[in-house]
Amino acid sequence: MADEDYDYLFKVVLIGDSGVGKTNLLSRFARNEFSFESKSTVGVEIWDTAGQERYRAITSAYYRGSAAALVVYDVTRHVTFENAERWLRELRNHTDANLVVMLVGNKADLGHIRAVSLEEAQAFVQRERLFFMETSALESTNVENAFTRVLTQIHQVVSNKKV
Ligand code: GDP
Repeated sequence: MADEDYDYLFKVVLIGDSGVGKTNLLSRFARNEFSFESKSTVGVEIWDTAGQERYRAITSAYYRGSAAALVVYDVTRHVTFENAERWLRELRNHTDANLVVMLVGNKADLGHIRAVSLEEAQAFVQRERLFFMETSALESTNVENAFTRVLTQIHQVVSNKKV
């Protein structure tokens, strides 16, 4: 479908440290179209940083117009979780309060070398009022779920605004 055939077109941005699996998550999620029960058709445009995060060179144009963000960390590297807080700050400085944000702990298949506990992730999520999911882009676990949950949430926010 062409962009103009959708009832909505949502921009979703992926952020987080280099190497956490953003590109792999994106490639696992090949769908770019959703239909909701209300019969509205939603197009999704997912933006990946394409490596710019290495230089902290993400510009405000990257964030502009986004409806949701996935803040990704690697469950085996604690520093990427600590930096998720920085990414969240930067995101909130560039976007409005309605933005749907999901914290994503990727590489959950490497649970045996986990460095970030579920408890500390959940504490962060509750404090910042985020959605949360652990995923494995390698094994395709929860990737579809994470995106679907975010999109369902944005759709709700947008349809509530309409009435
Ligand atoms: P990006 O820099 O955030 O875009 O990260 P990439 O998607 O390029 O992934 C970085 C590295 O982590 C690559 O070597 C991937 O194969 C690996 N990787 C990504 N996702 C997973 C995952 O869920 N599990 C495991 N074990 N490795 C992953």
